[in-house]
Formats: sequence, C-alpha cells, structure tokens
Amino acid sequence: MTDTANPLIRIAGLSKSFGDFVAVDDIHLDIGRSELFSILGGSGCGKSTLLRMLAGFETPSAGKVEIDGIDVTHLPPYERPVNMMFQSYAVFPHMNVEKNIAYGLRKDRVGKHEIARRVDDMLELVQLGDFRQRKTDQLSGGQLQRVALARALIKRPKVLLLDEPLAALDKKLRERTQFELMNIQDELGITFVVVTHDQEEAMTLSSRIAVMNEGRFLQVGEPKEIYEYPCNRFVANFIGTINTFEGTVASVDPDGISIQCEELGSTLRAVGDYAVAVGQAVGVAVRPEKIFISRSEPEDLYDARLRGIVDDQGYLGNLSLYRVRLESGKMIQVSSQNRRRSSKRFVEWDDEIWISWQPLSAVVLVD
Ligand code: ATP
Repeated sequence: MTDTANPLIRIAGLSKSFGDFVAVDDIHLDIGRSELFSILGGSGCGKSTLLRMLAGFETPSAGKVEIDGIDVTHLPPYERPVNMMFQSYAVFPHMNVEKNIAYGLRKDRVGKHEIARRVDDMLELVQLGDFRQRKTDQLSGGQLQRVALARALIKRPKVLLLDEPLAALDKKLRERTQFELMNIQDELGITFVVVTHDQEEAMTLSSRIAVMNEGRFLQVGEPKEIYEYPCNRFVANFIGTINTFEGTVASVDPDGISIQCEELGSTLRAVGDYAVAVGQAVGVAVRPEKIFISRSEPEDLYDARLRGIVDDQGYLGNLSLYRVRLESGKMIQVSSQNRRRSSKRFVEWDDEIWISWQPLSAVVLVD
C-alpha cells in the first residue's frame, strides 16, 4: 500500500502556461515516500513540463510544490532535495565512469575519501565495478543509463526525477533495465518520479500511475486499478487493447446495471457501483483476454453471449489473437493463452463461434 497520508511530495493546483497555451492545468497530487510514481501520457501532454517544475527548471504560472513539508515552489534546482536524470543522460564523454559518477560530489567539495567510498557504493549498486576506468563513449546504451543513474543518486536526493529513462534502449535491454531500476529504487528507498509515454514501462515499474492528457490528470491509481477500472474512454483506450460498445442504460438494480446496445442488438450486464441513470448514454468496455470463445452456445445465462465468425487470427507464441466479426458486423478482439502445446488450432478462419464474457469483466464508461 502507498503511504500518501504523510506524502513526500505535495503538488497543489500546479499550472503552467506558455502565452495562451496551458501546458499543465491545475494538477493536485500527493506522492508517498519510497514510491515509484509514473506520469504517463502521449507526446505534448505536459508531462515533461510538470517534471521540470518539480525539479525547479520551470517556474509555475500558479500553484505550489512541497517536498518533505517545505515549500520549494520558488527555490532554484540546486536548493531542492531533488535530482533529475534527463532523456539524453547528459554524461560527460571525456570523463571515465568513475569521474562521471563522482562529479556532483567533487563540485560540492566533498572530501576525497568520502567521494571514493560513495563512488564504490554506487558502482556496486549499478554493477559497473569492472567499467570504472572506461570512457563513457565506450559504453553500451544500458551501461550509459546506469552511469547516469549512479551520477544522479550519489548525492542522495530525497527524490529522483527521471524523464523517459529507458527510451534510448532496445526492447530486450529496456525490459531488463526496468527490473534493475525497480531493484535499485527498492534498495535505496528514494522516491522516483518517472515520466514516460510507454504504457508497458509504466505498468511494470510503478507503484502508482497518473495518466495525463492535455495538461490534466485523467486518472491516478495503481497499475491494476488503471488497467481493470479505467475511468473514461481515453484511459481505457490508452492503456492496452479494449473493445468498446456504445449503449443506453436500460435498468439499474442492486446487482448491477443493464445496457441496451443497439450496435450489438443485445443487452449487456455490468457489475459495479456506477453513478448512472436509466436512459443515460454510456460505453461498455471489455478487454480481449476477458472474452471466451466457444463452438457451442455458452450455458451461463448471465454472461454476455454473442455469435460471430473468426475473421482473422494471429499466433504470438504465448497468446493467440482473434478478430471476430459479430452478427451485427462489429469487429472485436479476443485473446487467449496457449496453455497447451498443440499443432491443431482450436478455431479456424471463417468458423462460426460464440463469444461470451462475465458481467464482472465489463467496465462502464461514462465520459
Ligand atoms: P514529449 O513526450 O513529446 O516530450 P511532453 O508530454 O513531455 O511531450 P511537454 O514537453 O511538457 O510535453 O510540452 C507540453 C506542451 O507545452 C507542448 O505542446 C509543448 O509544445 C509546449 N511547450 C513546452 N515548453 C514550451 C516553451 N518553452 N514554450 C512554449 N511552449 C512550450
């Protein structure tokens, strides 16, 4: 559980305008101690501007930032208990690994022995002991990223801000480095605030995620919460793949709600505490992995049951993906895990099939 009762960072009504353009719009957020918090959004949504305001590189147009109970809104970067790791890593190519890592402490005139001890600790933490004498232009992308991380951490900030920390790495290395980053964060207990446009990265790394669009936070929550209970259509479509159906609330009862979907010619059920009224237009969203495919009509009368034809299918090794054309013409995506090793496909192109899902798997989208 995240401890936000005693937050390390408190952001209140923070905004930033460039001329008439509002890049960050009235953000309120508490970040707990030792959290690995991600700000996730597409290009231009304002996430880097928000991070730069936390770092002190950008002056807010309105609002306040507190770190550990101290108002830092108007403090310069070097007076904040914060360090920032930039997209470009900003390591010095003419210095070796050791000197790069020691740089911040040297500048602060920390004693020689103290520097040596702390550099050793950092080299061990980021597992670069064997590379201490190497020039940084002789390192791989992943190693460079770890030098930058060590350089940012050696001054023991209370908060480390990371702007797209893994963007320069290829997929395999990025996945591995994600786990390294999590381990290091866990070991040091420093609060990390990560800006990323990569939803998989945010889901893997974070204790909590804020999904941002047009300068605003649309939803803040744990990865599972955001994936399973997206609060609106934007978040639902931004995170992972989802099928959405438009409809009208037909009835509301203690067990859930019924939604008449004209495009399916069917009524769907959803379970949950939704503040909706009969007659209201809503969306119903279902993730591909929550949908079952069967050859015969499913028996559970409470489940959504629709007929369709397999229009396309793809084999991804661990998963199979299906595009199913429903009788109404609507295309939907279904995924199923390949638990057994078999050369025979369960269903083929053009097979007539049934799809079904449980009411609990349906998410009602109001916005
Ligand atoms: P990306 O992932 O592409 O870096 P981002 O979400 O980090 O995007 P920001 O860099 O925060 O986006 O920029 C948000 C918006 O503010 C963008 O439309 C950008 O053009 C604008 N912007 C940022 N800095 C300035 C500036 N100094 N002057 C004018 N507009 C700016």
